[in-house]
Amino acid sequence: MGEESVPEQFETLLPLAVQWATEEEERILREGVPLAEDEVVDAVAIGVRNPERIRLLQVDEIPAPRHSILKAAAGAIRFLTPAPRALALRHGIFIRSDCWRDRSLIVHELAHTAQYERLGGILPFLRKYLFECLTIGYAHAPLEQEAISMANRVCGSQAS
Ligand SMILES: [Zn+2]
Repeated sequence: MGEESVPEQFETLLPLAVQWATEEEERILREGVPLAEDEVVDAVAIGVRNPERIRLLQVDEIPAPRHSILKAAAGAIRFLTPAPRALALRHGIFIRSDCWRDRSLIVHELAHTAQYERLGGILPFLRKYLFECLTIGYAHAPLEQEAISMANRVCGSQAS
């Protein structure tokens, strides 16, 4: 799939991305651990409405969609960096084992959780986030920039 063909297929890809994110969130909620007390404090500070729902799941590698079309799209728009350290899927957050309990990283992901809540769930978040990645690029996507500045405001360190 070429990069040019992705925008036209956005409406086809979006439901697949939502389905994948929903399934992975369910798995994290089943298998993950709740936030530690100081992480709950950070979550509240960053504007998360339901910090008690959040679970963190430690993984060796952040899972990527297996669906071939979605995989190609993710690569084309660089939705996921080559070796992501964490990924927030609403209240489920994957954390790579070597970054487990990394405060600035977790706060950054909590900022995305707050965005999912504010925008009204997985579908509206992914619609906006993936569209921004497609049109503006991951690094400059407004939702990404917002998460970086929110994280910097809360813990005053460089998050990515
Ligand atoms: Zn981010």
